[in-house]
Amino acid sequence: MIRPAVRTASRRKPFDVLIAGAGFAGAVLAERLAAGSGSRVLVVDRRPHVGGNAYDHHDAAGILVHRYGPHIFHTNSREVFDYLSGFTDWRPYEHRVLADVRGHHVPMPINRTTLNRLFGLDLTTDADAAAFLAARAEPVDTIRSAEDVVVSAVGRELYELFFRGYTRKQWGLDPSELDRSVTQRVPTRTSTDDRYFTDTFQAMPAAGYTAMFERMLDHPNITVELGLDYADAVREVEVDHTVFTGPIDAFFEHRFGALPYRSLEFRHETHARRRFQPVGVVNYPAEDVPYTRITEYKHLTGQVSPSTSITYELPRADGDPYYPIPRPENQALFKRYEALALARQDVTFVGRLATYRYYNMDQVVGQALATYRRLVERGIVGTAPVAPSSAALA
Ligand code: FAD
Ligand code: UDP
Repeated sequence: MIRPAVRTASRRKPFDVLIAGAGFAGAVLAERLAAGSGSRVLVVDRRPHVGGNAYDHHDAAGILVHRYGPHIFHTNSREVFDYLSGFTDWRPYEHRVLADVRGHHVPMPINRTTLNRLFGLDLTTDADAAAFLAARAEPVDTIRSAEDVVVSAVGRELYELFFRGYTRKQWGLDPSELDRSVTQRVPTRTSTDDRYFTDTFQAMPAAGYTAMFERMLDHPNITVELGLDYADAVREVEVDHTVFTGPIDAFFEHRFGALPYRSLEFRHETHARRRFQPVGVVNYPAEDVPYTRITEYKHLTGQVSPSTSITYELPRADGDPYYPIPRPENQALFKRYEALALARQDVTFVGRLATYRYYNMDQVVGQALATYRRLVERGIVGTAPVAPSSAALA
């Protein structure tokens, strides 16, 4: 589907830069190169829409849903927030997650309320909760793995209840086989703060992610071609520079073998009831439940409707690459591809798949803005004193 705000035009037009991928990495680079440098940019994406994995759309019930699972925007970077604010208004939203454990719905990340509800306790202060956790924590000399992180903080019982099954399902690996960075994303709290994130800026694009991407790409210097693979586009255009945001191993035709990515199957449903669950996301850490979490979008959008739409996430080994898998042997293989990438002065690799980093959206935006600055510094593109994107909000 090609939305009206996104132009398509003949590829016979001359372009300066070809960008593969219309997700955050590709869209930020396209916007900066077009509006900041006056470059003529062709953006191609093999999918039939812009937005990459953040793509959202109104389903048959009129609910704004995320095709590739829940995307909650949060950042501590004012630069990133201000930049995106040029293309969207925001709806304040603080994400809350409950875990379905032993028949209870308890806050995740684990906090004082979680402990009280699960164990029938009455811990009233942070110090009470800290002492309770300290008595269960199993000290680990060097925290290496995703298991070490949790066991050393909360002990084995809570680790098994909240992390072991979820992680085995999500990654197809035991937490002991994954980098510590994976579970370090989820803190343990002694307070009753039940927000999933504590970042300074937490909000959802008011009209959705896709609308924001359409504004970013709505520039006279930007042409978007959807349903077109980089491999086909590159045969048809001659450009000075390429920005590649797809999987780096695919770019180099898997010369050193395939880099592992984890995939998901998304099962979307609409139910004829106002509410499905009390919060935006409920996690199901038990290993015998096939899905990891259920998202109910109305919590994210604030929409009012007699029906509600939800998504189940079922982890898969095969399918679209969604997650780089953080562990040392994969990083070593990525480094071999990165060496090839560094030798290619004509191509810039940016984004979650091209740099094989488990990045959130804001980190990809930050990476893309920094990449643009480096392209200017290296003299690969200039800085044209042109007006900002016509679509940018005043
Ligand atoms: P992508 O969004 O993957 O975009 C890359 C694009 O390149 C894709 O559209 C793809 O079709 C295209 N492409 C690839 N190869 C080619 C090719 N050869 N030719 C043409 N096009 C190609 N982040 C958060 O901050 N908060 C969240 O709550 C959050 N939730 C997430 C939930 C899930 C289930 C997933 C998978 C990710 C989540 N993320 C979240 C991470 C977020 O999706 C990424 O940080 C962000 O989308 C990465 O942007 P990107 O441009 O690097 O990659
Ligand atoms: N995790 C878990 N249980 C949970 C939530 C998270 O074991 O209830 C682990 C799991 O390994 C997950 C990682 O922590 O992949 C990071 O969680 P996050 O919510 O940040 O994952 P994402 O939203 O990126 O899928």
